[in-house]
Amino acid sequence: MTSNTRWNVVALVVVLATVIALIMPSHFATAFDVSRMTPVADRNIRTGNKMLIEKEIIEERQVVSENDSNSTQAEVALDEDMSFLDEDDGDSDDGVLDVNEIPVRYDEAQLWRVYNISNAMSRRNMLPLGDILESKYGGTIWKENSKFLDVSIDKKHVKAARAFLEDHNLNTEVLNYNIQEMIDNEAAVGANLTQSEAGQRTKKAARSGIHWKDYHDLDTIYAFMREIRGKFPNICRLYTIGKTAEGRDLKVLSISENLTANKKIWIDGGIHAREWVSPATVTYIINQLLTNWEKQPSYIRNKSWYIMPVMNPDGYMYSRRSNRLWRKNRKPHKTSSCVGVDLNRNFNIGWGTVGSSKNPCHETYHGTSANSELETQAVVNYIKSIKANLEAYLTYHSYSQALVYPYGYKSAKSKYATALQRVGKEAARLIKNKTGKTYDVGVTYKVLSLAAGGSDDWSCSVMGIKYVYTIELRDRGQYGFILPPAQIEGTASEGLILAQQVAKDIS
Ligand SMILES: [Zn+2]
Repeated sequence: MTSNTRWNVVALVVVLATVIALIMPSHFATAFDVSRMTPVADRNIRTGNKMLIEKEIIEERQVVSENDSNSTQAEVALDEDMSFLDEDDGDSDDGVLDVNEIPVRYDEAQLWRVYNISNAMSRRNMLPLGDILESKYGGTIWKENSKFLDVSIDKKHVKAARAFLEDHNLNTEVLNYNIQEMIDNEAAVGANLTQSEAGQRTKKAARSGIHWKDYHDLDTIYAFMREIRGKFPNICRLYTIGKTAEGRDLKVLSISENLTANKKIWIDGGIHAREWVSPATVTYIINQLLTNWEKQPSYIRNKSWYIMPVMNPDGYMYSRRSNRLWRKNRKPHKTSSCVGVDLNRNFNIGWGTVGSSKNPCHETYHGTSANSELETQAVVNYIKSIKANLEAYLTYHSYSQALVYPYGYKSAKSKYATALQRVGKEAARLIKNKTGKTYDVGVTYKVLSLAAGGSDDWSCSVMGIKYVYTIELRDRGQYGFILPPAQIEGTASEGLILAQQVAKDIS
């Protein structure tokens, strides 16, 4: 071999190695790696969290039960889940398994949009038609507003339900002919991704393995929150603010350089179990805020962010394991065999009036009293405890593509409606520029419908918070709750824009 040939071989090897190095990460690195995020320097940060970690571990076991009796405790509520220090791989079983869980299937169940429901039904309250479709025709209500009602109907009821709607001159469009197929397609994307991640995860088991190309179980979301807390100990804290009926933790992550002095923004997701893109969007927001935190604009950095990706963990896990279209929590009812309360009808604002049901079998069952649910209680107590400087309450739902502000429990507007409309419009304009998607902006009772007991109205009316928005993420009904994983990142980026615009307007 001449030296020239040898050099050619060396050059070829170098080129090949470079090409492989360039291809490999993009091919295999679907899992997001928190350890690669830029840490935040300690200067000017006054949370003193590094020292607090030790303190939290010691005090954690004593504190949680005291939170509700003394609301100020929540500010120093101590994370009881510091297992990132024990190199918890985040893969542990969820812990709460019901052997009776048999997955509900929707083979050839159809998704319908029923128009002009007020023509045939009571004008004051849309619920009767939904009630009838639920109780007599095995329907599951997906969405109802002043213009239409989306409902899925089991295969065996399709004929009878169609006849019923025709009898009442209700114009109906079929949005989808096989809901199970949509669910299976959604799951297939996840299965492929999981395989490509498998090799990676064995290397460094401490990773949550979160990414935004698929939806994740609660374990992964909570492991991600712990990872973030561990990666940014000087600006992040993790709180367990309560437990669910099935014993799962309710977790809130805070991000702040000065928790109490800064103006605060609360973000929550996953009040409704089946709206999977909501927790995905909220975790995406956490990730985006902390990616290059030090390069974020001052209006982001000078806020205290309190973020709760999953307000309804029991319902969420039930929707992942057993019934993709589950909405409520999983609290058993004393006298009915039907399970669960609609948490977004359980807050103490106009409770039990419009747009909610007293029937435990219905999707919008409001519970036995306002704040009857552990999840509602935990959030109410916690928000009360951080009330000082709390300027914004943002709650993420799907679907509709709408940015709405109070009220929904009565036909009236928040006293901040002018600002809310302006900021909402600006967010919608930026979303349109970025992804091309159109979001409607307006007051809840007009854009969506009248519905009492919502967390947004409570935040506005009872807590007096100025920037209160509900964002209904994608889509407009093509897939509804079963939004394909390929749309998560785009949708989440739309959700982020709302948070950014609100932060900007506060400063
Ligand atoms: Zn919702």
